[in-house]
Amino acid sequence: MSQRIKIGIVGVGKIVRDQHLPALAKDQDYRLIAAASRHGKVEDIPNFPDIESMLDAVPELEAVSLCMPPQFRYDAARTALEAKKHVFLEKPPGATVSEVENLKALAAKNGVSLFASWHSRYAPAVGAARAFLSSAKIKSAAINWKEDVRRWHPNQEWIWAPGGFGVFDPGINALSIVTHILPPMFITSAVLDFPENRAAPVAAHVTFRTSNGLPVTMELDWLQTGPQSWDIVADTDKGAMVLSGGGSKLAIDGRVVHDEPEAEYPMLYKRFAEIVRAGSSDVDLAPLQHVADAFMLGKRNVVDAFFD
Ligand code: NAP
Repeated sequence: MSQRIKIGIVGVGKIVRDQHLPALAKDQDYRLIAAASRHGKVEDIPNFPDIESMLDAVPELEAVSLCMPPQFRYDAARTALEAKKHVFLEKPPGATVSEVENLKALAAKNGVSLFASWHSRYAPAVGAARAFLSSAKIKSAAINWKEDVRRWHPNQEWIWAPGGFGVFDPGINALSIVTHILPPMFITSAVLDFPENRAAPVAAHVTFRTSNGLPVTMELDWLQTGPQSWDIVADTDKGAMVLSGGGSKLAIDGRVVHDEPEAEYPMLYKRFAEIVRAGSSDVDLAPLQHVADAFMLGKRNVVDAFFD
């Protein structure tokens, strides 16, 4: 493989502009050489309407980042893997658990790397929280992920459609952290609030039990105005842990022990380069499995209609 990984980006929308392009522009491990999107364009490189025409026209591509909504990612991923390109999947890696399992098998068969990226897992204080919890006796934990959908996801129809996950689109970020810092856990109950005019939930109330019997609760709310909360708290024998700001700040008993600016996407691309060079894959489906379980076990509660 050449020194810089020749990469293409597919599905040029909000997250590509906010995070992927700035991260790739500074990363010496990559050269971004093409993009494919029906409407979006990336300046100064060739753009194509779809992944098939990009792969035909730019055979030197070695890797692709797939950044379209999850419902539309499988076919593009399959096309890329069968063309022997390494694949970076935005979160969530797919709309179902089994389609991503199938992509894992396809990556192995074609001898290329598959990366199911979980950006929140790379938030700056997550490693410190994991180290703290592994040295403490946990009594209970709670996830409070409450944000304003109108502010963060304006006019995103896909997010309210089946496979868009609704409030679990941000909620899966919390799950990507807790599945990294807490013992294995299982959903014991879930109530999902579906607006009467939408196919995905606007709020969710979930309880889990860890493999060693500890209670974990998760409150997801998409109608939070004012201060937003992306917090994970744990009661332990070494004090009360608060991981806030989506994993960026860690406090123990009120004392801040870790607070750094975030660099989630540069870290994701670093990890992707590592697995490409090592010839391995990194596909942890635990966060996606919990979302599937919540929909499987959850009671459906119909609430007021939601309008943007
Ligand atoms: P977005 O802007 O609504 O969608 C990204 C792009 O995907 C669109 O601009 C569109 O580009 C393409 N697309 C939309 N529908 C498509 C379809 N039916 N078939 C093929 N392509 C389609 O969404 P986003 O906010 O960037 O989110 C994309 C993914 O990144 C999601 O999985 C999301 O969870 C994840 N993510 C988002 C954020 C965030 O802050 N927004 C943060 C982290 C991760 P064209 O019309 O040009 O094809």
